[in-house]
Amino acid sequence: MEEVLKRNNFTFKKRYGQNFLTDSNLLGAIVSDAGVDKSTTVLEIGAGAGALTRVLSARAGRVISYEIDKTLRPVLAETLSGCENTEVVFRDFAREDLRETERTLGGYCVVANLPYYVTTPIVMKFVEESALCTGLTVMVQEEVARRFTAEAGTSDYGAVTAAIARRGNCRVTRSVPKTMFTPRPNVDSAVVRIDFTAGGFSVLSEKTYRETVRCAFLNRRKTLENNLMSGFSLSREEARAILGELSVKEGARGETLPPQTLGALSDRLFLLGK
Ligand code: SAM
Repeated sequence: MEEVLKRNNFTFKKRYGQNFLTDSNLLGAIVSDAGVDKSTTVLEIGAGAGALTRVLSARAGRVISYEIDKTLRPVLAETLSGCENTEVVFRDFAREDLRETERTLGGYCVVANLPYYVTTPIVMKFVEESALCTGLTVMVQEEVARRFTAEAGTSDYGAVTAAIARRGNCRVTRSVPKTMFTPRPNVDSAVVRIDFTAGGFSVLSEKTYRETVRCAFLNRRKTLENNLMSGFSLSREEARAILGELSVKEGARGETLPPQTLGALSDRLFLLGK
């Protein structure tokens, strides 16, 4: 890979989160973690020099890979030559209309070594907007992996954890030391698999769930009762009654409620017309 990059005068751009992978065992393991086979359509975000794309191409039915950096065009033309089932789209994925993209994909999963500067917005795009995505297997910074998979009541637990948990199971499949990347980043990473086909739960209103979660974590030092009063214009009595019905202890903070309880709270607020 180094040779191809050099030959094409490629320079790594920090602003695009360009930390490439080369280890073939690791690349194969990521694709195995995702459960990709010839029946799978894969959406990759960030082709880079095509190291992961090539392995995906060999194991998947179809691969669509986005890359923001057009200077990688000649590099990818070389590294992906012969990958007939693979298409590279040179656009900023963060600006794509996901529903529009899905129209051309059908059912698909995401596999990516994500650029760290847009990891959470990109994952949230799938969590909140996708209709046909079966899940994501993505390399993220270790700290982000901890937030995605945190238990209620811990300091890593937050609005993102609760949003992901509503859609499905989320677990770390492997830890990846920073030495595996070129250039080497400052922190270690982990591969996370978010499975939209298992776990998760339904709510009466997605919008109310999002607002409930936002409100629960709005001011971590305040009690949930106080946050609900200001966030949903409830009287103290109303807030207390709803929380009492859910057996939430008086004085509890939002971060102590597991995602399912936040879902039940959101349903009650929705039924109250909030
Ligand atoms: N997949 C390659 C690998 O594993 O070696 C490269 C991964 S590198 C961490 C992330 C890649 O995403 C970079 O090539 C970067 O240029 C690209 N990228 C960054 N922001 C992007 C965006 N908004 N849309 C599409 N690609 C992006």
